[in-house]
Amino acid sequence: MLVLSRQRDEVIMIGDDIEIAVCDIRGDKVRLGITAPKGISIHRKEIIDAIRRENRAASPDTPRCPACHKPFIDGETRIGTGDGTGTLYHPECASKLEVKAS
Ligand SMILES: [Zn+2]
Repeated sequence: MLVLSRQRDEVIMIGDDIEIAVCDIRGDKVRLGITAPKGISIHRKEIIDAIRRENRAASPDTPRCPACHKPFIDGETRIGTGDGTGTLYHPECASKLEVKAS
């Protein structure tokens, strides 16, 4: 990750046509102004992460907890060998699911 220091009203350019301006700094909050071409989507990362989590949860390929039937998405722990086999541990209900390589 490239880390740059900027002050209020200073700008960072990404490529030729994306501008990120530091509009305001108050305490630990920074307000950014972003100028980009119409085709570039701009979102807060936590929103994108939530949408991706929901999509994974809705996928039929996502393993489900045998006890509570919720998808193994958040807080799952995979204990395995790296070849696709192992154990999924679901901390919400403390149940485990054996996973075999396909
Ligand atoms: Zn569960």
